[in-house]
Amino acid sequence: MTDDPKNFSTRALWAGHLPPVAGEDVATPIHHSVTFGYYDMDEWFDVALDRKPGHIYSRNTNPTVRPLEVTMSSLEGSEEAVSFSTGMAAISNTLYTLLEPGDRAVAIKDTYGGTNKIFLEFLPRMKVDCCLCDTLDFDTIEEEVRKGCKLLYLETPTNPLLKVVDIERLARVAHEVGALVIVDNTFATMVNQRPLELGADIVLYSATKYLNGHSDAMGGIVCGPREIVDRVYHYREINGATLHANSAYLILRGLKTLELRMQRHNENGQRIAEFLHDHDKVDQVFYPGLPAHTNHDVARKQMDGFGGMLSFSLHGDFDQVKQLVPNLTHAHAAASLGSVATLIGPPRVTSHVELTMEERKAMGIPESLIRYSAGVENVDDLIDDLKRGLAAL
Ligand SMILES: *Cc1c(COP(=O)(O)O)cnc(C)c1O
Repeated sequence: MTDDPKNFSTRALWAGHLPPVAGEDVATPIHHSVTFGYYDMDEWFDVALDRKPGHIYSRNTNPTVRPLEVTMSSLEGSEEAVSFSTGMAAISNTLYTLLEPGDRAVAIKDTYGGTNKIFLEFLPRMKVDCCLCDTLDFDTIEEEVRKGCKLLYLETPTNPLLKVVDIERLARVAHEVGALVIVDNTFATMVNQRPLELGADIVLYSATKYLNGHSDAMGGIVCGPREIVDRVYHYREINGATLHANSAYLILRGLKTLELRMQRHNENGQRIAEFLHDHDKVDQVFYPGLPAHTNHDVARKQMDGFGGMLSFSLHGDFDQVKQLVPNLTHAHAAASLGSVATLIGPPRVTSHVELTMEERKAMGIPESLIRYSAGVENVDDLIDDLKRGLAAL
């Protein structure tokens, strides 16, 4: 797929398309069939052994799911891609494929909540030593990687404080010790950030977010070298966390407008972050595109756009959040992110609800923090909405 010369949006529309035949579907058909018939036993045998292309059983491969994987590897510039029922399935299947008892893994502390649980709860149970480092302490991450590890797991920008991790710098050190570098690229997408070009080996996604982009399908994708992706696929085949054809169709449809949508998310994110930054009811704003952001220089180096995700805290406590959120008319107060419609959620009741106030404080998460996933609405309307909501506080 890497030799496809076309530009991004062209590949998004055409990479998963087979050579034309007369009267073919223009939209990818949704194949609900669980199983696919063979009447020639030799052909069945060849397909079963991967000597001939074809589909046998939808837990393994499916004619709607496969074009999504082909399109994703083209967009990411990877040799191969494999899909999953959810983002967490992509992450867990990848880690369980690559790690064995006795291995050591290094990761940042600010990974997605579910990923963090894998490092803290499930991998230690299978005797994998997991070293979680302060996300922005690159010196310590380098030091821990140099002690030796099987893989380095990164995510950038992070949730909910939009911390930016220097992929190129850390990948270089990981490769010195022969470790694989995995990056969760869900927040940025490959429109804004291409970890493989920065030295990462594997890029993975919750396709539930920007890739689908409409809050109507869940999925996960892993992109990387064929040898590794094939091993992850083999694990998934047996583990069974397969993407459904319906969801594959919706994600594939989402990819067709990904570049367009990300351009608008980037513009809206930047404008809203700047508006909030200058507002007197707002305490802090976290957005990689603001020059005041802790790692704005790294973000500028490795990102082509800063995305639609931001968070901000209000002067005062959680009562202020309770007042503001119901007052906004163009923001769903709901979990998740990366949709065409704006979504907001305070980490205190979403991602970090299980922690105590002290634990949130130790992680630098203010009680009055609100995560804002800017949609693709008209940005003036979104700003007016926030203006009205904040004025009422
Ligand atoms: C949502 C999310 C996940 C998990 O994806 P699901 O599709 O909900 O399983 C993983 N990583 C990041 C960064 C996410 O935002």
